[in-house]
Amino acid sequence: MITSTVLSRERRAVSDSIAGTVLDCLEFARNGGVLERRVELGEMPRLADVLATSSGSLAVRLEGWRDAEGKSWLQLDVSGAPVLCCQRCLGGVEFPLDISSRLRLIAPGESWPDDDLEDDSADAMEADEALSVLSLIEDEVLLALPIAPRHEKCESPLGDAREQGPSPFAALASLKKK
Ligand SMILES: [Zn+2]
Repeated sequence: MITSTVLSRERRAVSDSIAGTVLDCLEFARNGGVLERRVELGEMPRLADVLATSSGSLAVRLEGWRDAEGKSWLQLDVSGAPVLCCQRCLGGVEFPLDISSRLRLIAPGESWPDDDLEDDSADAMEADEALSVLSLIEDEVLLALPIAPRHEKCESPLGDAREQGPSPFAALASLKKK
């Protein structure tokens, strides 16, 4: 269903960072746009709280198309291995990220689907005329990350906090005792 990727190539040439990339979703889908980039983790401020380090990047691919029924779609794939903060020992724990999200674009005036999405592998989304690609990626990544990442096996620093010097957990524990 891809008719042309010329537009997306032009867009890619204009700016190499995805940070300022804004898309008219329906136009992107109508043109069969394809956007392939690497996004630095440090470019996504809302991830900062869950990351142990903001160094590293994610591979991103966004594709749009219109199907035979005239419905518009986006497919967003994000992969990488961000290092999250283990909730037990506060060390870094690598999380293999492999997002594959299909989004059905709802045009202005088009009725919002209730249960009539053919399957639940797609989410409906309002067709934004000025979609921030970075925000979309950030949203999807936040949804995909575990709420409380932990190593399979590790020690809580509470037990040997005295030998290792002050740690945030130890400081918290001593606060609670008071
Ligand atoms: Zn741990």
